[in-house]
Amino acid sequence: MKKILAHRTNLIDASGIRKVFALAASLGDPVDFSIGQPDFDVPAEVKVAAIRAIERGYNKYSQTIGDEALLNKITEQVKADYGWEKPSVLITSGVSGALLLAFMALIDPGDEVIMPDPYFVMYKHVVNMIGGKCVFVDSYPDFKLPVEAIAEAVNERTKLIILNSPTNPTGAVYSDKEVKTIAGVAGQKDILVLSDEIYEKFCYDGSCPSIADYYEKTLLLKGFSKSYAMTGWRMGYVAGTGAVKKVIEEMTKIQQYTFVCAPTPFQKAAITALDCDMSEYEAAYKKKRDMIYEGLRARFDLTKPGGAFYAFVRAPRWAKSATEFVEKAIANNVLVIPGCVFSEKDTHFRISYATTDEKITQGIEILAGLADR
Ligand code: PMP
Repeated sequence: MKKILAHRTNLIDASGIRKVFALAASLGDPVDFSIGQPDFDVPAEVKVAAIRAIERGYNKYSQTIGDEALLNKITEQVKADYGWEKPSVLITSGVSGALLLAFMALIDPGDEVIMPDPYFVMYKHVVNMIGGKCVFVDSYPDFKLPVEAIAEAVNERTKLIILNSPTNPTGAVYSDKEVKTIAGVAGQKDILVLSDEIYEKFCYDGSCPSIADYYEKTLLLKGFSKSYAMTGWRMGYVAGTGAVKKVIEEMTKIQQYTFVCAPTPFQKAAITALDCDMSEYEAAYKKKRDMIYEGLRARFDLTKPGGAFYAFVRAPRWAKSATEFVEKAIANNVLVIPGCVFSEKDTHFRISYATTDEKITQGIEILAGLADR
């Protein structure tokens, strides 16, 4: 196969995740802390809206940029949220679609992309595939935004800074001061910031500050997958103003020749989703966050996560690596992901607590039992 496949296929290493799933395959009814999606379902009225859209014939391509009614609704929301006068919006096939288009539109071979480590896996692999160079900035041990280190990492090859708050895999939420400082750093060198805010609704201790409030050169990515539990519907969008509008125009051009458009019936249903009150779920997830933190903090080294539905926990000292601990956890029926999947280090493991309270209680008990040896 070596000669058939393109070189870029070698740039993606999925072995960490594959190992977990291979180990997990033999388990019956495990505590599954590995899945990065909500355990609730799409709200009933949104399902009805999708079914109606299909029945009414919204089964063809939409315009590349997105369904007009949805675009209008999101544009109004973005205007109200960020005070942008005439923002551009592009509806994408999930935030993943937006990320691919953004990287394709922005990164030339050799361009540097700064991102805090740990990071969402896709950033690293797609930037590498496109020929960019990831510059990882360590955010251990508390996963606060490493503002000084980011400022030091900036140079003439820097094309983009990626922020993701609330963060996958750490659950960290960046402070107002931190995002403001990065806005200053980026502004000084005229660098674009990509802000992935897919977990905006899962924000437990007050508001989640956005760099888009302080910095016009922000490419803002938001999604429906997590907020409305529709990971399979592939819905997201990108928004921006000023000079960023040109970037979105180029992303639209690339979407035209790749994804073509986001799924049309689900675009229609997303209009209904935007009016749904999800606060009940958000409150339930805050409780799950508290359960995990309170349940594990005495036995593990763990920073309290402020958002998303992840906790990034230091593996106990007895384990040579987080991977070794994860193997032990899986052998005891708890699925977690080793930190090396999201990081250049292998010291921590990711818990996704997007599961039932019963499973969380069960998982805490098993993990706590593995903390000492
Ligand atoms: N960004 C982050 C930080 C994520 O965790 C995910 C999903 N795991 C995505 C983007 C992509 O989500 P989707 O394509 O479903 O919108």
